[in-house]
Amino acid sequence: MRIHEYQAKQLFAKYGIPVSASNTASTVDEAVSSANALGYPVVVKAQIHAGGRGKGGGIELAKSASQVRDAATRMLGMTLVTPQTGSGGRIVRLLLIESAADIAQELYLGMAIDRGNRAITVMASRAGGVDIEETALRDPDAILKEIVDPFLGLRPFQAFRLAHRLGLPIKTARGVAKFIQSLYRLFCEQDCVLAEINPLAITSDGDPLAIDAKLNLDDNGLFRHPDLRDLRDLNEEDPLEVEATAVNLNYIKLDGTVGCLVNGAGLAMATMDLIKHVGASPANFLDVGGGATAEMIEKGVQILIGDPDVKAVFINIFGGILRCDVLAEGVVAAAKKLSILVPVIVRLEGTNVEQGRRILNESGLSFRTASSLGEAAVMVAAAVGVTS
Ligand code: GDP
Ligand code: MN
Repeated sequence: MRIHEYQAKQLFAKYGIPVSASNTASTVDEAVSSANALGYPVVVKAQIHAGGRGKGGGIELAKSASQVRDAATRMLGMTLVTPQTGSGGRIVRLLLIESAADIAQELYLGMAIDRGNRAITVMASRAGGVDIEETALRDPDAILKEIVDPFLGLRPFQAFRLAHRLGLPIKTARGVAKFIQSLYRLFCEQDCVLAEINPLAITSDGDPLAIDAKLNLDDNGLFRHPDLRDLRDLNEEDPLEVEATAVNLNYIKLDGTVGCLVNGAGLAMATMDLIKHVGASPANFLDVGGGATAEMIEKGVQILIGDPDVKAVFINIFGGILRCDVLAEGVVAAAKKLSILVPVIVRLEGTNVEQGRRILNESGLSFRTASSLGEAAVMVAAAVGVTS
């Protein structure tokens, strides 16, 4: 789960990680009164779940109340397009008004669970700021790394070594090492999967300060943090994924054209492989699970055809606990309610498969039923117009 910069900074403050004084504002008047309370200059920052805001016009320095008014008027309600939002952009609903910092140097600090190393990896660079992505591609050696032993945790010497390798003077290096250790503690205690401070500023006094703050939380750890669960902003999430979660469906949007409805994560992975194998591409991962009801199936179909990218639907079910007749009833109910304009290919096998096929065939609706995976794959490829 992603959270906003202002929410991440509230967590930072709890862990003693230095941040500037700030307030959120959802109206222009609130922005101005926040800025007046903080004193000038301030930075007006659009709160969306994407970086690159500076490049898209979502970050502005304001030296007076009238400049805050102008910036807030421009930003609130705007569709902010940045290199990370995609062309659709994101609507700005909230601003962070923050005391402007006097920045002498911009560093980069990141922390992630590195699957390759099977450990949390701390990354830092002198080339912080808005162009870190380009730097990482052009000059990967500019990113320094410390791999954390999962049993020992981050050792103090690792934090100091990283700060030292950044070429910082001793007092600043001490401050940065402490910053890294505090962030590591937050990262572990709050079950994060990614933390990024870009830039981690060094102020003119030589102290570290988190100018930006990105934290991604582990969805599977949220049950341990009811307070963090409340930080979720549904406006920032794919509406179809939100709908799916509400009815306990496991749905992840992908960028292909074949909508898949499958039971069981293993079968879902195999189905996506199969689609790729015949030259097509899955539009999503949708696992209705072992104990799906007809209502859940109906909702699943509705979610699939609600995606404008879907050019064909492939229902691939192995009936174990989920019986084929229950599946068929759900699909038929969905098809009768919704106008399905794309071909629907169904491959059923397992418990009550004969009944399931009969329900589909007698529904009067035009499903294309396949009797094997191979046959289904060919039908799917033909339906989306790939020839393999
Ligand atoms: P991003 O573009 O979404 O990554 O937003 P950031 O919060 O990282 O801000 C982008 C850039 O704005 C930073 O790299 C800084 O150069 C600048 N900036 C942000 N806040 C301040 C501030 O308080 N003082 C100064 N001088 N610059 C700032
Ligand atoms: Mn940034």
